[in-house]
Parts: sequence; structure tokens; C-alpha cells
Amino acid sequence: METTQRKTGFLAPWRNMLLWKQIVIALVLGIAVGVVLNITGNEAVAGTIKHIGTLFLSLIKMLIVPLIFVSLVCGMASVSDMARMGRIGLKSVVFYLCTTAFAISIGLLLGTLFQPGVGIDLGTAAAMEAKTPPPFVEQLIAIVPKNPIAAAADGKVLQIIFFAIMFGLSINLVGDAGKPIRDFFEALNSVILKLTEIVISFAPYGVFALMAWVAGTYGMDLLLPLGTIIAALYIGCILHAVFVYGGLVTFVSRLNPLRFFQGIVEPQIVAFTSTSSSGTLPVTITAVQKNLGVDRSVASFTLPLGATINMDGTAMYQGIAALFVAQAFGVELGMSEYITIILTSTLASIGTAGVPGAGLVMLSLVLTSVGLPLEGVAIIAGIDRILDMARTSLNVTGDAACTVVIAKSEGQLDFDAYNTPHVLEAPDLLKA
Ligand code: ASP
Repeated sequence: METTQRKTGFLAPWRNMLLWKQIVIALVLGIAVGVVLNITGNEAVAGTIKHIGTLFLSLIKMLIVPLIFVSLVCGMASVSDMARMGRIGLKSVVFYLCTTAFAISIGLLLGTLFQPGVGIDLGTAAAMEAKTPPPFVEQLIAIVPKNPIAAAADGKVLQIIFFAIMFGLSINLVGDAGKPIRDFFEALNSVILKLTEIVISFAPYGVFALMAWVAGTYGMDLLLPLGTIIAALYIGCILHAVFVYGGLVTFVSRLNPLRFFQGIVEPQIVAFTSTSSSGTLPVTITAVQKNLGVDRSVASFTLPLGATINMDGTAMYQGIAALFVAQAFGVELGMSEYITIILTSTLASIGTAGVPGAGLVMLSLVLTSVGLPLEGVAIIAGIDRILDMARTSLNVTGDAACTVVIAKSEGQLDFDAYNTPHVLEAPDLLKA
């Protein structure tokens, strides 16, 4: 989304600006306009501006079904050569799933401790009261779709995810005969990612409208507590990186954790600024091999797989955000909803594409799974870039941690390289 061709004309400074800067400006302008509308008693105008935000939300919701299905099929189908990669694949999947469950738990814990949505009364959850979720066992059984086409048409996300996993794995199992389908899905994936990029380029306008509506309608009462979500996520990401990844590297692999963190500085910073773990992949692969001495055979498999299915930061974000929305709308969540959030956030994070803002798209399915109002996405959208920076950085750190731990366990780690303080030089990064 970064502009390569310089635009000219009256709006050139705006049109040539990087998207993230546009979004920050839109966020600030939205708050300013909303506050003015609020102070001057023009809440109705804020309500009108909201339509632009609703349009943006419809655009991102439009992507949910194709995005989940195609990116998950590609993720599963990219586990090529199952026989050789089977053991590493199994270890990676176990590592990724376990750390993701930890991340959501940390997210739910911090969401409970920080109570980011408490005091932001966004109305009573009238729609919620009418709904009684079916028993948990029934929900589990319902994950298997009787008709995958109907599941897609109805936007039944868990069912789509289940079918996508089975479908992707089957592409693998048929070997060469499945190549045309694999190639087709890879091409389709590029198209869907481009579509996502186009939709996300409207984010500044959506963000402006949504923030103006929120600030105009709810005033500073709502805006200030958004700082609590940001704090909760950033603290959660740091805790997860230091204790979960640092702990695994130290106690499972018996390696120096400081060297690990030093060796992945570049991908962490690139991820933080680009908010795309897929975009950061070349830098991650280079850093893990050159700085940390991981053999190419491991890195070239676990890192792309991780960039597709391992999103601990995204999962943690979804856990915190779901609690935020529940608190803000005054919805009581029971144990079965907590379990559903853990399950859907894990699956949603697996299906999240490693592109900017994809976690926001997926948030709507986590909210839907427990019957929370989708307006919650609108509120989070206003600060999503700031949250995306932290979660993408954690996503990439998790991929690298898994790669180091597995490489060590497979005897594919060069200890001399690992223990030699060396940080990639600029030319390496440029080549990567
Ligand atoms: N931007 C994140 C990533 O690329 C995905 C997300 O939006 O959560 O890892």
C-alpha cells in the first residue's frame, strides 16, 4: 500500500503519504471532529458520518469468507512433502497451537485485570439477551459442516475453517495430482491479498468516520479507555515474548535467550513498522539463519508456515478485544463463551493472513461466535494500527522462537553462529 508512483496535484501530500500515517491523521482528526460535535451537541451529525464507517466495515466483512478459506487452504497445502517434513510439521503445529493458547489466556487475563471496556456504556445488549447459546458439545459437533457451500454462504466461520483444513491437507496427500489446485489457490491467495490491500486502503476514511462517530456520540468517556486496551496488549506482548518464548528457548532448548532476542531485532522492527508478518518473512528467514545459525532446511519450512498459521499477537489481541467489547456493551460472558473465545481466536489467528489489519477482519468472527455486537470492530478500528504494530511483532517473534527450538531439537542449529553476537548488516537485509 505504500505509494510507489508519486502523485501530483492539490491532494498530493495526502495521496503520497504512507497509509499508516494517513490512518494516524484520520484517527486524530476523527477524534477532534467528534469531540467538537459532541461538545456542540451535534451527535446527529456524528451519526450521519458513521455511514462511511459502516461502509468500510461492510467492505472488510465482505472479505471474511474468501480470506479465511483461501489463506487456510494455502497454509495447509504448503506443508509439502509430508513424509520428510512430518515430524517438523507436527512439532511446529504443536508449538504454534500451544503458544497461541497461552497468548489468548494472557490476553483474557489482562482483559479481566485491566477491564478496558468497563465504564464505556455503549448500550444494553438487547440482542444478546434474547440469545441462549447452544450447549458447548453441540457447538463442537457443529464445527463439522454438513454442506460446506451452505457454511460459506451463511458465513459459518468455524465450519469454513474446518473444511479448509481438511481440504488443504487433502491437496497435500494427493501429491502431484493436486498441483494444479495448489497453484490455483496460491494465485487466488495473491488476488485475495490484493483485494484486502485495496479494502484496507480505505481505512483512513473508515477510521475517521468511526472515530468521529464514537467521539461525537460517546465523548472522551470512550476514547480515554482505548488507551487501556493499548496498554493491555503491549504489556501482554512483552510478557508473552519474555516468559513464553524466552522460557522455551532457555529451558527447553537450553540456549541463551538474550542471544535469541538480539538475533531477531531486525525482523521485529520490520514487523513493527510494516505490520505484516508475510512482508517481513524474507528478513525473518535471513536473520534466523545468519544471526542464530538455524539450518535452511528448517527455517524455510517453519517460518512460512508460521507466517501463515502462527499469530500469537493476533490471538492475544482478539482475546483482549472480545472482553473489551463485552464490557463496553454490558454483556456478561460465561465459561462457555470464554472457551469459545479461546477456540475461535486460536482458529481465527490460524486463518489470519500476515498482512496489515487482517486481525481486525478476523475479530468480527470472534465477536460473532459469542454473539457480541460487531460495532465493537468499529471502535477497535480506530486504534488498530497501533495494536497491529505490537501484535505483528509478537507474531514474527513466535515464528522465530519456534524455528530455533525445533532446529535445536533436530540438531540443525549451528551453536557457534548462535553464540556469536552478530546482527545482520544492511546489505544482507537489502538482498533478503
Ligand atoms: N498484521 C498482522 C500480521 O501480519 C496480522 C493481524 O492483523 O493481526 O501478522
